[in-house]
Amino acid sequence: MHVDVVSIFPEYFAPLDLSLIGRARASGTLRLAVHDLRAWTHDVHRTVDDTPYGGGPGMVMRPEPWGEALDALAPPGGTPPRLLVPTPAGVPFSQALAHELASESHLLFACGRYEGIDQRVLDHAASRMPVTEVSLGDYVLFGGEVAVLVILEAVTRLLPGVLGNVGSLDDESHAHGLLEAPMYTKPAAWRDREVPAVLRSGDHGKIARWRRNEALVRTVARRPDMIAALAPESLDPRDRAV
Ligand code: SAM
Repeated sequence: MHVDVVSIFPEYFAPLDLSLIGRARASGTLRLAVHDLRAWTHDVHRTVDDTPYGGGPGMVMRPEPWGEALDALAPPGGTPPRLLVPTPAGVPFSQALAHELASESHLLFACGRYEGIDQRVLDHAASRMPVTEVSLGDYVLFGGEVAVLVILEAVTRLLPGVLGNVGSLDDESHAHGLLEAPMYTKPAAWRDREVPAVLRSGDHGKIARWRRNEALVRTVARRPDMIAALAPESLDPRDRAV
């Protein structure tokens, strides 16, 4: 997968050299380039923002550097990338969207700052490439960089060959509309707390049922919205008893 990121703070992306995402880059599974938006400015101050039309506090990112950046990284007439624009006004990011993005060959991220990017940049881009405005959640960050780090991490771990054990992807929270059951490791007893006996029983059927029950109980307690969204046919009679 090829990924371009445009930001006024390219330094934010240093952690992408670490851990499994760094390995994905080293192996070529993830070809990532981070670009400084100010490379597409032409004034001595390398200006990227200005006051908002209509008044109000804060500054808005000017369209010209963004237009030039997108023309350079997604040349008109070429195969268009999918443009991702983090914004609290976007569609909520989810594991389903992470899967969708993992199947793309080229992603281009535009990191906003201040009060965001002049809307005409997104409207113009949408005339020649798919554009998705995406939100990490119902809160407001300083800028899009942290959102891109989160999205890239969620997407990269879905790329073939990145995780040592792909089974982890099938078992985890959000894979099937539930949260994962609690996990335990050795020692079997720690500070007077014991690992549930069933997990030490060696009975795989019982363990699977226990995990399923715990996943249901947790999801009911913490995320009733996820339970409400479950397809009825994904539940079996034993689930309904939980
Ligand atoms: N004025 C904008 C609004 O009210 O929708 C908020 C701008 S915010 C201060 C600056 C930048 O941070 C945004 O352009 C976006 O890139 C990023 N950002 C802030 N919150 C975000 C969120 N919840 N999800 C994704 N990106 C976010």
